[in-house]
Amino acid sequence: MIKVAIDGPSGAGKSTVSKAVAKKLGYVYVDTGAMYRAAALGCICGDVDIKKNPKAAAEMVSYMNIDIKYSEDGSQLIFLDRENVTDHIRTPEVSIGASDISKIPEVRLKLVEIQRRLGNLNNVIMDGRDIGTYVFPDADVKIFLTASPEERARRRQKELLEKGQSCSFEEVLEDMRYRDENDSTRAFAPLVPAEDSIRIETDGMSFEESVQKVLDTIKARLEEHVV
Ligand code: C5P
Repeated sequence: MIKVAIDGPSGAGKSTVSKAVAKKLGYVYVDTGAMYRAAALGCICGDVDIKKNPKAAAEMVSYMNIDIKYSEDGSQLIFLDRENVTDHIRTPEVSIGASDISKIPEVRLKLVEIQRRLGNLNNVIMDGRDIGTYVFPDADVKIFLTASPEERARRRQKELLEKGQSCSFEEVLEDMRYRDENDSTRAFAPLVPAEDSIRIETDGMSFEESVQKVLDTIKARLEEHVV
């Protein structure tokens, strides 16, 4: 099975780009951030303060059933204890919760196991923070997709506004910096580019250009493997 790892910081466009690329290649797209978000949502709904009480959060996650399914048009759906929570995991509160919960090693181990299972069953494009370094260190292609914090915050603010969630540019930038800092400084599987990853900076690129660049990079790398 072919594994393509796409890692990078929040708001670099990983999910939208990866989803479009997976469709073009006919691969299964796995958004691993949605799993951390579902775990955080479960704790928030269960009134567990993830930051103050990581032990209780880890225990709660150990009982959760987190599952990925696909709708007929191929989009990823995320289920928490059999409930479809796809539309409930994109709020700023869940974003922060996901960032906090992702520091807990027991939570990561549980979710990584599900991710490895999915990757071993299908040709996948998996996006996250630690796919090329930890989940699949043997991935066929590893891409580190990034952009400046300002560019990422601008895109995220636009996305939120389109969903009817209003927030200032400063708030979004602040949230992004918090998550970047958390992700890159945590002890276990932090956000760092894999040594053998190809770095793609999307500042100034349109969505279509980013998709094309990622697609060309994957094809070139896969051809190198075959030769
Ligand atoms: O990708 P997304 O922003 O939806 O991810 C939510 C949070 O989950 C991130 O801020 C990050 O802390 C965490 N995450 C992670 N490892 C992954 C995917 C996401 O730590 N593979």
